[in-house]
Amino acid sequence: MEKAKKCVFCEIVAGRAKAYKVYEDELSMCILDIAPFTEGHCLVIPKRHAQFWHDLTEKEIECLFKTARMVAKKMLKQYNSDFICMYARGRRIPHTHIFPVPTASRWPSQIPKARVLDQPAMNIDLFSTSLAAAGIQLPKDRVIDGKDMLPLLSGKDKSSPHEFIYFYKGKQLQAMRSGNWKYQLKHYVYYSPMGKKQGPWLFDLAKDPNESYNVIGLYPELARKFEKQTAAWQKNFDRGLK
Ligand SMILES: [Zn+2]
Repeated sequence: MEKAKKCVFCEIVAGRAKAYKVYEDELSMCILDIAPFTEGHCLVIPKRHAQFWHDLTEKEIECLFKTARMVAKKMLKQYNSDFICMYARGRRIPHTHIFPVPTASRWPSQIPKARVLDQPAMNIDLFSTSLAAAGIQLPKDRVIDGKDMLPLLSGKDKSSPHEFIYFYKGKQLQAMRSGNWKYQLKHYVYYSPMGKKQGPWLFDLAKDPNESYNVIGLYPELARKFEKQTAAWQKNFDRGLK
């Protein structure tokens, strides 16, 4: 009960914390996200406190996904989306939340439709990709970490131009991706209702896409290699700031 009392979603379900409620039924609730990826980004949560979706009962699962599907259908219509992307989480906020996000990606003359890509890309690539699409050269007086994703999107290239992807909070490097690995640096901190948690962590995203199991103890050499690499990258980044 102590855990449930501190949980923000339990507070919302109990009516003690504010949220914009989109829909509610016996076992599930849909609310708007407080920091949406895009317009319409919602959270669908079970009313009972349970950390992961696989901790739910069959009836709760049925209710949760029925609500998510209903909301997704409304999003498709409202936002003219190509599809609705869905994530099921429970780590940072340890109360199951699935979030449907309206998603569109279209350029019929350049990008074949209905392709599914499993290669890494991120928002930093939008700048380089947009400039390439407009036929504009990237500035040459600084390092641009985003890459042009058009060859990958068009099918010309089969793999992402990123060998490594770095994640920042402000100017501080927080994490890196390399292949299936995600390395969180030692100063990476997040606060959960259970208290403060701090890196370094290593996750094998092929086996653990939810980043639930730190495997740094199993791969200490790999972690050391990533630690050195991220330190060198941060130094380079600090020097190159404009
Ligand atoms: Zn809860």
